[in-house]
Amino acid sequence: MNDKIWLSSPHMSGKEQFYIKQAFDANWIAPLGPNVNGFESDIENYLNEDIHVAALASGTAALHLSLIILGVTAGDEVICQTKTFSASANPIVYQGASPIFVDSEPDTWNICPEQLERAVKDRIAKGKKPKAIIAVHLYGMPYKVNEIREIADRYAIPIIEDSAEALGSSYKNQKCGTFGDLSILSFNGNKIITTSGGGALVCRTKEQKQKAVFLSTQARDDAPHYEHTHIGYNYRMSNIVAGIGRGQMTILDSHVEKRRSNFEFYKKAFKDNDDISFLFEPKGYFSNRWLSCISLPDYNVREEIRLALGKENIESRPLWKPMHAQPVFKDAPSYLNGVSDAIFETGLCLPSGSNLTESQLERVTTTINQYFAVC
Ligand SMILES: *Cc1c(COP(=O)(O)O)cnc(C)c1O
Repeated sequence: MNDKIWLSSPHMSGKEQFYIKQAFDANWIAPLGPNVNGFESDIENYLNEDIHVAALASGTAALHLSLIILGVTAGDEVICQTKTFSASANPIVYQGASPIFVDSEPDTWNICPEQLERAVKDRIAKGKKPKAIIAVHLYGMPYKVNEIREIADRYAIPIIEDSAEALGSSYKNQKCGTFGDLSILSFNGNKIITTSGGGALVCRTKEQKQKAVFLSTQARDDAPHYEHTHIGYNYRMSNIVAGIGRGQMTILDSHVEKRRSNFEFYKKAFKDNDDISFLFEPKGYFSNRWLSCISLPDYNVREEIRLALGKENIESRPLWKPMHAQPVFKDAPSYLNGVSDAIFETGLCLPSGSNLTESQLERVTTTINQYFAVC
């Protein structure tokens, strides 16, 4: 059997263990310490805007805290892009609020400005203004930042920017992760950089960051004993995990370059195949190409290719199944135009790791080309 080719596997720089060793040597084995502070400033320097970063246990925790900081409570409604991973939507339910799902547009596969405005108007007409909008840069492709911002501002609704898949992407030369009223990052095992598990909340003000750190460390008030006026969470990042993050930040740009070159490799290999299409970058958009995705003529071809790859020990995966189609969210109001359902049927994510070799990429393209040669 050929060696397994993963969709997106961790890729260490070699420097991670240096920072972990420092943590052990200084006995900073805790959810605070020099690596946590250092990782936060590494991200702040990278994003290069007037922002404040709180390192947390996961991207999901960052989404949960962003809802709390924006004052989302039981009975509220929050708009969420339907085409996304469930972690974008679950924290809405943690707060006792209700998700309202909005479909995608075909240029970026992300939240559609027309459907968003239709949803906002309709929710207001029904008696409740949504408390926040969760917009996602799927697979690293920025959403329509200006168009979404214009609508959000017109109705005075804050944006939570889910940049879990888009560290290293940018829109009109500004880095993704800096566009929301609050933004989140993820460092899970499959993301463009990983700390094994981890995330960050990107704040616009120092006060927001202080609040995030306070809530993520059990909401301890200033007192010699443990005094609590708020419900707290254990969401802070560990100093060991942050050491991995410090090492990973040193190779983020080269990971972006390699993932983009994977995409170019696939594009070139399939350039004469009219049955395979790609999502291109609109002008001013720069995607980290976290995952390389292809669109196929129909569901059957998509499945046959997925199974043919599986037989060769190559992992691939259909695009995110939209949230409005998930059993757990079947009763949520949704504003749909058919785009997210269509790309779920026909889209496939191909192996995209920054550690793939040329011969592994060739195995992927050869398997797919053979499928088309036979049928
Ligand atoms: C990975 C991911 C998250 C969640 O991040 P975790 O760190 O795994 O909790 C949220 N949103 C999107 C779009 C993601 O891909």
